[in-house]
Amino acid sequence: MAVNKVLVIGAGVGGLAAAAALGQRGVAVDVVEVREDEHVLGVGINQPGNSLRALDALGVLEDVLAVGFPYDGNDYRDWNDERIVLVPSSLGDGRVPANCALTRKELHTILHAAADAAGASVTYGVTVEALEERDDSVAVTLSNGDVGVYDLVVAFDGVRSPMRRRLFGDAFEPVHTGSSVWRLQLPRPADVTRTTLWQGDLVKGGVIPLSAESMYMLLVTREPGNPRHAPEDFGELLRERLAGFSGLLADIRESITSSQGIVYSPLVEVQVPLPWHKGRVIVLGDAVHTAVPHLTQGAGMALEDAVVLADEVTRDRPIEESLVAVEALRYPRVDLVFNASHAILEAEMQVTADAIPAAAAGMREHLPGQTAFVEGVLNQPFRAQADQAAVN
Ligand SMILES: Cc1cc2nc3c(=O)[nH]c(=O)nc-3n(C[C@H](O)[C@H](O)[C@H](O)COP(=O)(O)OP(=O)(O)OC[C@H]3O[C@@H](n4cnc5c(N)ncnc54)[C@H](O)[C@@H]3O)c2cc1C
Repeated sequence: MAVNKVLVIGAGVGGLAAAAALGQRGVAVDVVEVREDEHVLGVGINQPGNSLRALDALGVLEDVLAVGFPYDGNDYRDWNDERIVLVPSSLGDGRVPANCALTRKELHTILHAAADAAGASVTYGVTVEALEERDDSVAVTLSNGDVGVYDLVVAFDGVRSPMRRRLFGDAFEPVHTGSSVWRLQLPRPADVTRTTLWQGDLVKGGVIPLSAESMYMLLVTREPGNPRHAPEDFGELLRERLAGFSGLLADIRESITSSQGIVYSPLVEVQVPLPWHKGRVIVLGDAVHTAVPHLTQGAGMALEDAVVLADEVTRDRPIEESLVAVEALRYPRVDLVFNASHAILEAEMQVTADAIPAAAAGMREHLPGQTAFVEGVLNQPFRAQADQAAVN
C-alpha cells in the first residue's frame, strides 16, 4: 500500500471515522485531539440514510440503531400547528432506515469504540506544532514534544480548522449567515415520532426524536450582526423568540424557567474549492465544507469523506492520485448539500407572519419534489464503483 502510517488531526465525527476506516484496512493510525478529554458538547444529531450507510461501512450501524430513534420523514406545519405537508423520506433502503437520530455523546462513543477496535491510538490535549513535508513522508512535531513520521496527514479539525488556514491561508473563513439556532434536549411526548417543523414569523421551530425517552427542540432565528448573548440570558431570549407559536412549541415555551441546557449556535458556512490537499496533507469534513444543518447532513458528509478516504488511499498507486480521486468523489455531494441547505435557510428566514399562507402553498407544491431530487442524489452510492460493488 502507498499509505501505511497516518496522522489524523481531530477526534470529532470525521476524525474518529477515518481512524476506524483506515485501521480496518491495516493502516497504523495516530489521532491527536486538542480537547482535553472525550467529553463532547452538543445536543442531538440526526443521521439520514446515506449517513447510516457510511456508518454501516464502518461496521457500527447496529450500535447506532440500538440507541437511536429511527423515523421516516418530516412533518411541516405552520405556527398555528396546522399541517402544511408531510414529506416522507426516500433515503435509506432495506437495510437502513430513512433517518436515525441519537445524542452526540452516543455517536462519539460508538465512533471512538470503532477507532479503538481498529487499533488507532487517540491522544487528547495535543495538537500539531510543526509539519515538515519530505519527498515521501511528512514529519510532524506535536505540542507534547513527540515527533512522528507519516505517509499522510488528514485534518478533520472542524469549522475553525487551523490546518485549513495553514494550507490555504485565511481566504476561506466561516461566514455567519445572519441566523442562529437554539437547541434544548427535553423528554419526548409519545406523539413525537418524526422531525416536525413549524414555520413562524421570520423564525422556524422544530423537534427531533432522539430515543424512546428524549427529543430535542430547535429554533432557527434571525440574529443579524451575530450578537454575543450572555448564557445566563438564554432562557429569557428563547422564550421571547418562541412567542407566537401554538401547540407543542407553546408548551415548551411555558416549561422554560431557566437557561440551563440551552445551546445557542450561530449558523456559519464555509466551502473551500478544490484542491483540499497540498502534498501529503489533506483537509476534510467541516473544515472544508460546513453547511447549515437544515438537511442534517454535516456529520454524514464527514463520515462519507472518511470512508472514501480510506478506500482510495489504500489502493496501490501514487498518493497524489488517491487524494485527487477522494476530492473528485466528494465535491459534488458536499456541494449539493451546501447549496440545498443554504437555500432552505434563506427561504424560511424570509417568511413574515402575513406571508405564511402563501409560503405554505409553495411548500405543498414544491417541497416533495425538491426533497425527492436531493435525496435521489444522496441515495446514489458515495464510494467508487469497485468498493460499492464489493458491498452489494
Ligand atoms: C446546530 C448544529 C446542528 C447540527 N445537526 C446535525 C445533524 O443533525 N446531523 C448531522 O449529520 N450533522 C449535524 N451538524 C453538523 C455536524 O456536527 C458536523 O458537520 C460534524 O460534526 C463535522 O465533523 P468533523 O469531524 O468535520 O468536525 P467536528 O466533529 O467538529 O470535529 C472536529 C474536531 O477537531 C478538533 N480540533 C480542532 N482544532 C484542532 C487542533 N488544532 N488539533 C487537534 N484537534 C483539533 C475539535 O476539538 C473537534 O473534536 C450540526 C451542526 C450544528 C452547528
